Amino acid sequence: MADVAAPPYRVIPIIPALKPGAMEGVKPFIAGDKINTAIGFPGELVADWHDKAIAKMGELLAKYRSLKVYMDACVHCGACADKCHYFIGTQDPKNMPVARQDLMRSVYRRYFTLPGKLFPKLVGARDLTREVLDEWYSYFHQCSECRRCSVFCPYGIDTAEVTMAAREILDAVGYGQKYSNEIIGKVHRIGNNLGLPGPALRDTLEGLEEDVKDATGIDVRFPIDVKGADVLLITPSADFFAEPHIDSLVGYAKVFHATGTSWTLSSMASEAGNFGMFIGNYEQLRSIALRIREVALELGVKRIVVGECGHAWRVAYSFWNTLTGVGDGAEAGDHFAQLLQKQLDHRYKQPTHICEFTWDAIERGLLRFDKSKNDRHIITFHDSCNVARGSRMGDFAGGQFEIPRNIIKAVANNFYEMSPETTREQTFCCGGGGGLLTDDLIDLRVKGALPRMEVLQQVVDEHGVNFMATICAICKAQFTKVLPIYGFDRRLVGGVHQLVSNAIILGDN
Ligand code: SF4
Ligand code: SF4
Repeated sequence: MADVAAPPYRVIPIIPALKPGAMEGVKPFIAGDKINTAIGFPGELVADWHDKAIAKMGELLAKYRSLKVYMDACVHCGACADKCHYFIGTQDPKNMPVARQDLMRSVYRRYFTLPGKLFPKLVGARDLTREVLDEWYSYFHQCSECRRCSVFCPYGIDTAEVTMAAREILDAVGYGQKYSNEIIGKVHRIGNNLGLPGPALRDTLEGLEEDVKDATGIDVRFPIDVKGADVLLITPSADFFAEPHIDSLVGYAKVFHATGTSWTLSSMASEAGNFGMFIGNYEQLRSIALRIREVALELGVKRIVVGECGHAWRVAYSFWNTLTGVGDGAEAGDHFAQLLQKQLDHRYKQPTHICEFTWDAIERGLLRFDKSKNDRHIITFHDSCNVARGSRMGDFAGGQFEIPRNIIKAVANNFYEMSPETTREQTFCCGGGGGLLTDDLIDLRVKGALPRMEVLQQVVDEHGVNFMATICAICKAQFTKVLPIYGFDRRLVGGVHQLVSNAIILGDN
């Protein structure tokens, strides 16, 4: 950490000067044999990696029509060029979204198009050499799959999907990333990304019950593995012990208590996060999601609620439907998906985000707040990428933007927006999403946080903002780490339900 420094703020945030090669060779640790084989990937780079990689690419092009369209459609207009936080922070031209895509597009042209096969130099086609493969490993792990660039592309080309495809190809030849693959192994083995066993979870939850009782005098429960509960809460495992995440877990529990909701956590599905999406691997994405279905069936719950986790909500909102049957998209012949469909109560939206749950309770007058309890906080809101650009909340367009803000305004008096070019669908990534929240990439993470830190500084200077609320476990962890490097207090970041927890009135007082 000692040699990591924040880049200087830009006076006028225009396209930064190019620094070719600035991030050349920067890459996360490579997964070793034990980590890879535990989740079904080759243990190390296979001898015939070239042929296997091209075959895998062909398979993905056939399977995902979008990928083929993305490879063919780009007109190199440059609209996306300055929209990536990693390009802005590192100034490396290969971190321009279009350049990142071209790392794969050049190989696609060489092997999958006639002009590329006949006249490679004329059409910018390249052989897949070991050098190119290393370049893929490096630069496809400098993309957080945040999809900001796609908002600005006239063709809607989604660089995140290109990154996912590249990572899937890399894993298929035994060249995967340690951080993500290790975490996926832990989910399968233990039930969550952090490797917290059931007894440790129970201890934590008992401790929270005592803390809340001491603070409020009220018996707020944190139930786990309760059969017959109405609601199953699936939340990121960081909520069980990390700061500030745990304060939001307390907030969820208080909301359930105040609304008289019968709810439970699960020790087996104690993780909302799904790193299968980050590595672009459908089988992993599905098998991690299926743990939740299994638990939901076992516990007999009627409703599934998802805690504050950005990519988890995207997976839940966009993919659970077809992966698991949570929602209304059970595939024909998928017996367990259909069982779950019958079991769940479809008067409720399935799945429900905790913000939807809380806002609905507020609208129905079920919750009371003392907003002055948050008066020490001058608040802004950071939209998390996967919520903003990969999901929705409520039953109206933009609900994913308005509902968390509505909750904040219902529980606190002081709220200020950051610059509109950096919020809602144009929000900047925190710099640590997409499987990059690892200390081997801390330099990239700090540089990638630059655009968000610049606009945060503006509201700090203009309004005295001292609390940036967010609904993503990765954003919280990333900001906790990088805020001090930019000269802010690490406690400046927190959850929306942390604010709910501060202000909610329990009992008669
Ligand atoms: S990090 Fe986000 S903005 Fe940058 S290339 Fe990837 S998806 Fe696009
Ligand atoms: S905005 Fe779209 S079409 Fe234009 S360069 Fe970027 S990816 Fe290509």
